[in-house]
Amino acid sequence: MDINNLQRENIKRLRPYSTARDEYKGQASIFLDANENGFGSPLEQNYNRYPDPLQLDLKDAISKIKGVPIENTFLGNGSDEAIDLLFRAFCEPGKDNVIILPPTYGMYEVSADINNVEVRKVNLLPNFQLDLDGIAEAMDEHTKLIFICSPNNPTGNAIIRTDVETILANFKGLVVIDEAYINYARQKTFIAELTEYSNLVILQTFSKAWGLAALRLGMAFSARPVIDILNKVKPPYNINQATQDLALDALKNVDQVNEWIKTTVQERDLLSIALATLPLVKKVYPSDANFILIAVENAAQTYGALVEQGIIIRDRSKVTLCEGCLRITIGTPTENKTLLQALKSL
Ligand SMILES: *Cc1c(COP(=O)(O)O)cnc(C)c1O
Repeated sequence: MDINNLQRENIKRLRPYSTARDEYKGQASIFLDANENGFGSPLEQNYNRYPDPLQLDLKDAISKIKGVPIENTFLGNGSDEAIDLLFRAFCEPGKDNVIILPPTYGMYEVSADINNVEVRKVNLLPNFQLDLDGIAEAMDEHTKLIFICSPNNPTGNAIIRTDVETILANFKGLVVIDEAYINYARQKTFIAELTEYSNLVILQTFSKAWGLAALRLGMAFSARPVIDILNKVKPPYNINQATQDLALDALKNVDQVNEWIKTTVQERDLLSIALATLPLVKKVYPSDANFILIAVENAAQTYGALVEQGIIIRDRSKVTLCEGCLRITIGTPTENKTLLQALKSL
């Protein structure tokens, strides 16, 4: 598949902004090329120099953990930036369309709406798996992207692997697999399939398992042509220096992250069992993520009663296929205990 033919015509023609750092990459004693303040910053730490536009040191460290080469890695100001850039690079407003699979993560549709790109919705089946026939019917020659969230937010389940492979093998556009919750899943990442499918884009994030939501750092892994196009379209300095420095430090603490993942998975399984014993809970959906979807008798009332006790969960009862459902993030063991006590008291 020729990825370059998938991009918008104006993006094909685009000559990207060339930064001072693009034009001179070597060492020097005096940099007077970027209109920075040579005195420094009014802080303990200096941030007076523009950061590396391609974040090569950080990508190198990520590459050692993920096993994905630097040239197949894109970093965004959150995965949300990568989602937006996929629309801006590949979808012609008012002409192209994308497929999303509700109930799913809300940003795909918001990003499509912002970019004036048609959204075709193919609901998940009642078991929250893919409706392959429905997806095949929805796509046409203007379908550029399909978003598959696995494990899916807000349902928590992973999507059956062979179904995803069916789409990868048959869809002519980009298949975006959002693996924001992959660290909590029994299923493994699709990273190993990157070399097999030139239309595969995998999104991961530092916002969940890595505990760095406030830094805004997301990853996209894909074939070289896709990464090159995203890099061409992105704002030149999209990842700030503080984020690059802090993420590099965080990557040294992978053992801590793995421990949190283990605890979160244990807590998820304990909480699932405990929730199922509560009379007000009608159903606990199986989860491969760091949250659980439950169906209750009266979602709005349960939500409100928890708010009264200072506990905020997510009311998802208005979402497609999620009637009466609440989404609960797995907290620390203490937080989970308090939540259970509160629910028992209702
Ligand atoms: C939380 C989440 C993200 C993360 O987005 P960031 O912009 O990286 O914080 C991405 N996709 C899904 C499905 C999520 O739930």
